[in-house]
Amino acid sequence: MNDWKAIDANPQATPCKVPEQAASLTMRKQPIHAFTVDVEDYFHVEAFANAIHREAWPQLEYRCERNVYRMLDMLAEKSVRGTFFVLGWVADRSPQLVRDIAAAGHEVACHGHTHQLVYRQTRQQFADETRYAKELLEDLTGKAVNGYRAASFSITKVSMWALDTLIDLGFTYDSSVFPVSHHDNYGIPGAPLGPCRMRAPSGRSLIEVPLSVAQVAGLRVPISGGGYFRLFPYWLSRAGMRSVEREGDRPLVFYVHPWEIDVDQPRVQANFLSRLRHYNNIDRCEGRLRRLLNDFQFGSMSDVLAAHGMLPIPSRVREDSRLGQPIVALQ
Ligand SMILES: [Zn+2]
Repeated sequence: MNDWKAIDANPQATPCKVPEQAASLTMRKQPIHAFTVDVEDYFHVEAFANAIHREAWPQLEYRCERNVYRMLDMLAEKSVRGTFFVLGWVADRSPQLVRDIAAAGHEVACHGHTHQLVYRQTRQQFADETRYAKELLEDLTGKAVNGYRAASFSITKVSMWALDTLIDLGFTYDSSVFPVSHHDNYGIPGAPLGPCRMRAPSGRSLIEVPLSVAQVAGLRVPISGGGYFRLFPYWLSRAGMRSVEREGDRPLVFYVHPWEIDVDQPRVQANFLSRLRHYNNIDRCEGRLRRLLNDFQFGSMSDVLAAHGMLPIPSRVREDSRLGQPIVALQ
């Protein structure tokens, strides 16, 4: 039973909006998971950082807008409202896109400004660019921006100081921690698998919503989106996600990028591994997303946190919060 995150899968007021596959679930509850989009273009990715210099970004073919609008159409078709972590660089270039994301009912959150990895920035650089992006997004949407996700999930054990900056800037939650050990750019191996209050170096704490992994034979297997979703056959991703559902105590946090549904994007001349990461099965991603949206029930990060009893919460949380969540300190 997934009481902690259950919402009505078939609200009687809008029966026509229930996905076909959900029809058989009438009269029972379905857990809600987070559908998130990291809004950036193909040339922002870390895998191409050595092949494309930042100074060249403004001259490159810009494809982010059309891909985001396609995603908005797909989500509208499936009646899903998710969370869009928008890069400040994209918001500067496409202010109307940000307004349209918010107008469609999605949560707008912050993906930083320059897509530089957090641990490659000084604390001052990180504070300055994150403040800039947050305020820009808030000006465009007229709403508080409560959530943050770092470029390439780059809040790791060496950049935990970033949590203090996020608290100082008034963020309510972070979703930058990938609780795995295998990746070269990211990962905190011993991190909790579900939403928690994570202790920052100052002793204060922030809600952390880690990316999802399945537990298979004692190993943590990423099944939460991006390149993993394109690498694994859909049935395997779904099986991993169902195994997380069966645990019953944590939501799935799924992520995807607009460029992952863009089969016509320019091919960047980078090394083999980078090209594999970026282009693998890119022609299959949109079809798999549609199946995913039929097979699971998704909402925004805020929906999931509210279902988990972690929101509403003051933006500057304290250890003696009335919500009483245990605080996790990583050594
Ligand atoms: Zn990103």
